[in-house]
Amino acid sequence: MRILAKTTACIVAISLVAACETSDTADEADIAAGTDGNVLLAAWSGPYGGVPAFDKMDLAYLKSALEIGMERNLGEIDAIAENPEPPTFENTIEAMERAGKDLDRVSTYRRIWSSNVSSPEFREIQLEMAPKLAEFNTKIIQNAALFDRIRTVYESEEAKSLRPDQQRLLQLVYDRFARNGATLTGEKKARYAQITQRLAELHTQFGNNVLADEEGYVTYLTEDQLGGLPQSFVRSAAAAAADRGHDGEYAVTNTRSSMDPFLTYSSERDLRETVWRTYYSRGDNGDEHDNNAIIAEILQLRDERVKLLGYENYAAWRLENRMAKTPERAFELLEAIWPAALARVEEEVADMQAIADAEGAGITIAPWDYRYYAEKVRQAKYDLDSDEVKQYLQMQNLIDAMHFVAGEIFNFEFTPVPEGEVSVFHEDVKVWEVTDKDSGDLVGLWYLDPYARPGKRSGAWATSYRSHESFDGEITTLGSNNSNFIQGAPGEPVLISWSDARTLFHEFGHALHYLTSTVAYPTLNSGVRDYTEFQSQLLERWLLTDRVIDNYLLHVETGEPIPDELVEKIRNAATFNQGFETTEYLASALVDMMYHTMDPTGLDPDAFERAALEELDMPDEIVMRHRSPHFAHIFSSEGYSAGYYSYIWADVLTSDAAEAFAEAPGGFYDKELAKRLVENLFAVRNAVDPADAYRAFRGRDATIDALMRDRGFPVPSN
Ligand SMILES: [Zn+2]
Repeated sequence: MRILAKTTACIVAISLVAACETSDTADEADIAAGTDGNVLLAAWSGPYGGVPAFDKMDLAYLKSALEIGMERNLGEIDAIAENPEPPTFENTIEAMERAGKDLDRVSTYRRIWSSNVSSPEFREIQLEMAPKLAEFNTKIIQNAALFDRIRTVYESEEAKSLRPDQQRLLQLVYDRFARNGATLTGEKKARYAQITQRLAELHTQFGNNVLADEEGYVTYLTEDQLGGLPQSFVRSAAAAAADRGHDGEYAVTNTRSSMDPFLTYSSERDLRETVWRTYYSRGDNGDEHDNNAIIAEILQLRDERVKLLGYENYAAWRLENRMAKTPERAFELLEAIWPAALARVEEEVADMQAIADAEGAGITIAPWDYRYYAEKVRQAKYDLDSDEVKQYLQMQNLIDAMHFVAGEIFNFEFTPVPEGEVSVFHEDVKVWEVTDKDSGDLVGLWYLDPYARPGKRSGAWATSYRSHESFDGEITTLGSNNSNFIQGAPGEPVLISWSDARTLFHEFGHALHYLTSTVAYPTLNSGVRDYTEFQSQLLERWLLTDRVIDNYLLHVETGEPIPDELVEKIRNAATFNQGFETTEYLASALVDMMYHTMDPTGLDPDAFERAALEELDMPDEIVMRHRSPHFAHIFSSEGYSAGYYSYIWADVLTSDAAEAFAEAPGGFYDKELAKRLVENLFAVRNAVDPADAYRAFRGRDATIDALMRDRGFPVPSN
């Protein structure tokens, strides 16, 4: 679910133009440029400051709308770059914030086609347009006249007298160019472009190789090799085998969703070892799909590229605009948690070895035994009947609970918009008007697309169709949540799992983060990788508050609130197997950071990984969650390169902030603390440095103590 943060609107738009969608009113330029007829380019009309015309979406217009949108955007950028007036904040930076509205509107529709209502026809257009969109972004970054103006404003006297949020905007815009090679000239500029292109190829090759090994290696089982496996797994394994022409056999495919349950339940130890080795060898088989040479070249080129820009290493470049700011601070956090995770692994292994010994298994716990014996420990110590919990989790009640929390903490009122008043792309989608409880002022709209259907991607995510801005007049937010629940029979309540309920709250946290925005400029809505998951993770904590438990977690038949002992079991289960989970994660995060801070000359990734893990004292029973040759987060793109630490960085903030609520006089519903939360950590988005914002909320920096308690680890003494 965390990965899905990628779909937040602001991260999708890599262009330097308005980072998030904004509405526009029809003007003569639209008509003169030939908008009439192309429904995707048309200004949004209707109530709430205009809403997307989802009911008129027509794929036939998409390609031309994207082309016209890019062309107009480049025209706007050229006009700014060639302005004969001397550069000012207003005629350069603000003008850039104003540009690209047409493309933004088209992009909203494109993302709906991509995520909610996809089709082979759409994917064909997407494939054709992706390189053109990439080229469009490069053109803007490489516009030397434009960057000259930005730099002039950045270095001007005027800059010093701007409002703090304007200074922040100027910094973000300047960095976006400077950090991506705009300061380079001549040979260095050419080399930079060459490296960027080669890296794009290598990233794609890396990902394709992992995919090839996931598809190419399948473990087939016969009827007598199914010991311990649940019926649901057996059924899907039979179907997977039949799909591959192995009728009558059972396929364990080489993916996490197949490997993980197999290792958890299979009583066939030799097969567990086979499946484990196959999975953790992806990209490392010494054949044409081997990724080791690609890793070496990627790291070499990344290092060379940031040195052209004057950085000491790739991680220093990468973390500069993150909350952590330096690789040292990321290392510091990872290393502070590491010893406690290792100590817990020792305890977990001892628990598991005891069970294996009692069973007379005659084995020493190996990596392919961990999940299997951990499951036995779970049943003995933490047994939680997921079906029993589900009876208290009715989707509609959970939605009501989220609106209740939003009312208490954010002072928002959610009112259903009558059907037909705002257009939707599918009849399942419902829309709520969001207003301020006291003033009645419109905050925006919240769209919910709850159910699975063909053409919709899996998982859950949040996105915004339009983000808040006010520098050209107040624009309200259009936010959305999307899930894949299975629709019940008409009139039947939809029951969901505990983890789905958490995800629902998590994604709603992202939506609230959009809706609370008070920033003046579109770019200030943008996300910061090690910070954007914090707000959503924090919102999950309200699911187990008394007022939600008592009023919304009600049994589907009796209407009774979920009993205390079941809540207690849920709470205890949260610390189960944390040694394993934290260690496999931290090992990957640490190795990622080591790769991006060392000198990559002559690197042998295989030897490096082994040496790094030895130095860390990695337990024999656990491997990295993602071994280097298939660590797609960091090598198939730059999405999480020198950034895998981000998950636990955000977790530290989440635990620390949740503890502030737990200790407040009014607990999780403390009005004064809620106000500080919304003002400092939600409404400002990226208009304030996240570290300063957090300090303003908490009165100090976050410490790891609360996270250690949440995971059941001892808190280090200071
Ligand atoms: Zn998220």
